[in-house]
Amino acid sequence: MNKATIAIDVGGTKISAMLIQDGIVLERRKVESIVHTNLNGLAEYLYQLCSGWVERAGHLAVACTGQIRSDSIGFLSAKQQLPLQQQLKQLFNLPLTIINDAAAAAYAQFQVLKREGLFANKTETLVYITVSTGVGGGIMQNGQLVLCDDGFCAHLGHVTVPHAGDPVRCHCGRDNCVEAIASGTALAKRASLLLGHQVTTAEVFALRESVPAMAQLVDEAATAITSLIANAKAWTGCQYVVMGGSVGLSALFYLVQHKIAQLPPIYQVTLLKPDNGADADAWGVYWYSQRGLIAG
Ligand SMILES: [Zn+2]
Repeated sequence: MNKATIAIDVGGTKISAMLIQDGIVLERRKVESIVHTNLNGLAEYLYQLCSGWVERAGHLAVACTGQIRSDSIGFLSAKQQLPLQQQLKQLFNLPLTIINDAAAAAYAQFQVLKREGLFANKTETLVYITVSTGVGGGIMQNGQLVLCDDGFCAHLGHVTVPHAGDPVRCHCGRDNCVEAIASGTALAKRASLLLGHQVTTAEVFALRESVPAMAQLVDEAATAITSLIANAKAWTGCQYVVMGGSVGLSALFYLVQHKIAQLPPIYQVTLLKPDNGADADAWGVYWYSQRGLIAG
């Protein structure tokens, strides 16, 4: 029997952890994230979260928001670097696998679809887009996760798209990134400016039936994501795009699906919802850490 693996998903809102042995979850824990409030305390916070597990584990697998470099993590929105890998190795004293959270979700979804036989006789390429507070992405190209040295790859939220009207500045420094137009944060911010008072992302979707300006904002978000998907098809040749995240799984999903059907045929893809639920990122990095050890 293999030793257990600690799989942790470090998101912007929640941090969840599972102790997994041979694909079976032995224990799970979930806490509020401190990524936006106490980044320097993150490693110690994760160690405390896994109290009592470390001596039972043989591996630590972490899916984390941000740009995963070989020795640090870049948090673009906070403009900060954190040497999380070294900090985790010192505290946990375990071999470490760490990948971006959306990349982990892409890997998890790829495993599911592969087992379902979706890639039979086809190129094993999948694009994963998550739309929630931000817009994240992960790409499986020809059966391999797209990774890079500086961690800034497959960050699909920072692809620019055509946008009518005034340019929308993104926190990355460019204008008209998908994240600046279609993320939950962007929708709430743009809607609040238009209405003259603060509204949440959920309220933007609720108001779109009665307030034309809100319907237009949501439509612009769907158009931006559809442009991103058409671009992704041109780069990767993907037949399948998976869209998840709290905003991605809202009415936005069906709007995007409708707009994809209006693209020229060569750009059309099958839009799918993710299968692995809230634990997709943790399962993804777990399976990624086990590649070569288990089949699939
Ligand atoms: Zn950007």
